[in-house]
This record gives sequence, C-alpha cells and structure tokens, in this order.
Amino acid sequence: MPPRDPSCIFCKIIAGDIPSARVFESDSSLAFLDINPVNQGHVLLVPKEHHATIADLSDEAAAETASLLPLLCRALLKATGAHGLNVIVNNGRAAGQTVDHGHWHLIPRFVDDAVNWPWPHTPYSGDELGQMQFRVLRELAIEGGRSS
Ligand code: 5GP
Ligand code: ZN
Repeated sequence: MPPRDPSCIFCKIIAGDIPSARVFESDSSLAFLDINPVNQGHVLLVPKEHHATIADLSDEAAAETASLLPLLCRALLKATGAHGLNVIVNNGRAAGQTVDHGHWHLIPRFVDDAVNWPWPHTPYSGDELGQMQFRVLRELAIEGGRSS
C-alpha cells in the first residue's frame, strides 16, 4: 500500500474505506467522480501516495498520475459530450484547495455553460515581468542544485 494519512478522505477513498464512483485505476493513481461537480462528469485524479499538495509530490508519482490525463480527457469528452475541459489543480488554501491530498480536477465544459471562468488577467507593468522571471529562475536554480 502507498503511504497514506488515516485522516485523509481521499486516502480513505483510495483504500475503499469510503465509497466513490471510480472511473479509472492504475498501480499509482485513481480517478473518480467528484461528489459535488462543477458540471456533471467532473473527475478527480489522485496519486495513491498521500501528499498534501502537488508541490510535495515525488517527480515519479507526479509523472505517473499526470500521464493519465490525455486518456481521461478523451474519455470524458466523449462520455459527457463536453465541448472542452478545464484541467486544474487547486494548490493550497489560498488557491481554493479544500482536501489536502494533491489532485487534478477534470471539469467538462460546454459553450455558454454557467461556470464563472476564465479568471481575470492583469498585465505586468514596468519591469515587474523581468523581476518575476528572475525570482522564478533563481528558485529553480536552487531547486536544481538540491536535486543534482
Ligand atoms: P479542492 O477544493 O481541494 O481542489 O477539491 C476537492 C474536491 O473534492 C471538491 O470538488 C469536492 O467536491 C470533492 N470531494 C470532497 N469530498 C469528497 C468525497 O467524499 N467524495 C468525492 N467523490 N468527492 C469529494
Ligand atoms: Zn491522502
């Protein structure tokens, strides 16, 4: 069994301790219908290893779980007749995450449905964009140093 958190609702779903409408399972991952969907057919894709957010996931677990996205997207588009899908991750409370077991949302979307999307966008001003690029590049260089 992969590492689990006994208080985590998704770990309980993975273990079969509480019911869910499963749609796909592999050694590393599980996909099931969201109990409270944005649109019907809304699927949650979870790694079986418990990690609070995607940022805590191992590269291997992330790759294995994310590799199922194309297959699931194709099946969902056909099963729901959706015109598109939002594939999103809420990472942390500030981003709307409510279940602390990292997961991907696959949300069927229809032209003119009532879902409030997309988010507002605001362009950078001055040298903000360059400064932000610098800060992200610096952190990635540090992360790269840690993993090599
Ligand atoms: P988050 O807000 O953390 O990104 O997403 C958590 C999702 O899990 C929500 O969309 C919510 O409807 C779904 N959810 C919460 N509890 C359960 C459950 O017990 N079963 C299922 N199938 N979905 C759940
Ligand atoms: Zn968990």
